[in-house]
Amino acid sequence: MYVTQTYDSGFFSSSSVKGVVYLVGAGPGDPELLTIKALKLIEKAEVIVFDRLVGKEILNLCNPDAEMIYVGKRCGKTSMKQETISQLLVDLALSGKNVVRLKGGDPFIFGRGGEEALLLAANNISYDVIPGITAALGCSASSLIPLTHRKLSRSVTFVTGHVVEGVLPAWAGLVECGQTLVFYMGLERADSIQNGLLSAGLSVCTPVAIVGKGCSPEQQVHTFELQQLIPMSQALVGLSPALIIVGEVVTLREQLMASLEEVATIGAA
Ligand code: SAH
Repeated sequence: MYVTQTYDSGFFSSSSVKGVVYLVGAGPGDPELLTIKALKLIEKAEVIVFDRLVGKEILNLCNPDAEMIYVGKRCGKTSMKQETISQLLVDLALSGKNVVRLKGGDPFIFGRGGEEALLLAANNISYDVIPGITAALGCSASSLIPLTHRKLSRSVTFVTGHVVEGVLPAWAGLVECGQTLVFYMGLERADSIQNGLLSAGLSVCTPVAIVGKGCSPEQQVHTFELQQLIPMSQALVGLSPALIIVGEVVTLREQLMASLEEVATIGAA
């Protein structure tokens, strides 16, 4: 079945009798980076299904009367299976509940929101997708690493660290035009990433940054060369969530930080 949808109604409607599911991006952690649409929805949701990347500060903004269902990893136990989560959304909507499925960052960037939307559609459940600021964009701003720059990189690719397990790993394709690469879920796979990028011809001196707990008061930014990615990831083991940014644009951070310090010095004088 092929369904043509329009955005006019505000949500993708397949049926009007059941509850509606909103797939909502919560952004990279800072509650002020929520969209107004996301905030309005979490303030009035009847049920909120959320996972590990959604922090306390954002949960505190949710409707206090909402039923809160946690579906992430807890105390080393494995996460709820994706199929179970998707089915839960369907079941809640069928029982007439309006549900917010709250996800870190953006629901359609490595968030498995696509799988959830597909199951909702297959079950004729109405749903809407509210974008969020994905980790790469949040961390780019908060670490002062512009992901593109006219003279250094004219494109950027978001890559999952799982690329190393897939049919890809198309390392040559990733590095060919000197673009910026942002690896999500990459810290545990740093050895494959370092070896893959070097084998495809990137220089050992290529600038790299690891941004951990981005957009939070505990944010950490570590910059170094590609040849140090493996030891750095070992030293930072347990830092979560973390992104790896690879490319010449990483060097802009030092300049931007220096200019910030200069401004602060002038201000203090
Ligand atoms: N849908 C999310 C990504 C989910 S995958 C989004 O759009 O951002 C989870 C990965 O996202 C983590 O392993 C990490 O690589 C990255 N990530 C999410 N939030 C982050 C943050 N605040 N700081 C650094 N990396 C983050």
